[in-house]
Amino acid sequence: VTTIGMVADLVKQVGGERVGVDALMGPGVDPHLYKPTSTDAARLNKADVIFYSGLMLEGRMGDLFAKLARAGKRVYATTESVPESRLAEPAEFEGHYDPHIWFDVSMWAETVPTIVRGLSEVDPSGRELYEKNGADLSGRLARLDEWCKATAAQVPEGGRILVTSHDAYNYFGRAYGFKVVGLQGVSTVSEAGLSDMASLVDYIKKQKVKAIFVESSVNPAAIKRVAEDAGVQIGGELYSDAMGEPGDRKLGFDTGTYDGMVRYNLTTIVNALK
Ligand code: ZN
Repeated sequence: VTTIGMVADLVKQVGGERVGVDALMGPGVDPHLYKPTSTDAARLNKADVIFYSGLMLEGRMGDLFAKLARAGKRVYATTESVPESRLAEPAEFEGHYDPHIWFDVSMWAETVPTIVRGLSEVDPSGRELYEKNGADLSGRLARLDEWCKATAAQVPEGGRILVTSHDAYNYFGRAYGFKVVGLQGVSTVSEAGLSDMASLVDYIKKQKVKAIFVESSVNPAAIKRVAEDAGVQIGGELYSDAMGEPGDRKLGFDTGTYDGMVRYNLTTIVNALK
């Protein structure tokens, strides 16, 4: 199995020991900008099945996925089982859904059925195991979602404003009650303009925002400049479109896992804003 970015962790949990996972696009890689190399193409060609996130998150890999699918490769966008009614279409991403669903844990959990189905289709004799692991994983994700709700509630409602580099947290904000303000829009392809920076500085001052945040897969220069101009502190570095290094523990959480990344992010946000 070859996976792209964040989906690796859930695929490993559903596949268990029955499945070998080759994960492309590791820590710190920006999926919006990532161009596949010839080595990547070879790794994808070798796979029995490929899982990626979809909703145009991996913008420059789309052609390659389509080509592989046409050639008969089993290729799954894990977000295909997320109900369309839950997807948001932000104005600045005209005509496309916002792909950053993983920070609403209940939405990321909706990708589990696609993983179970994909693995079962390529390996029918493992179906029972994949279904059992999928159900266990869904249970763990439901508990993580509850933890997020309880943790977010530690910040008084008026103080739940999350200012970051790019709009990776819209679903997060909707799920856990934060107003989310991004400097760069939904994709990192367009760079932040000066007028955006000036209006963000005004906004931070007016709302008396306590802290703003940089992201691990986005250049922090612009947000650092905003923090200086607005006279606020940087509350920490959040994971946005890529997980951390496997085993890299921060605030006690293994940020190389989906669970650890989510807990680390929210703990960082809550500590800085409460
Ligand atoms: Zn993004």
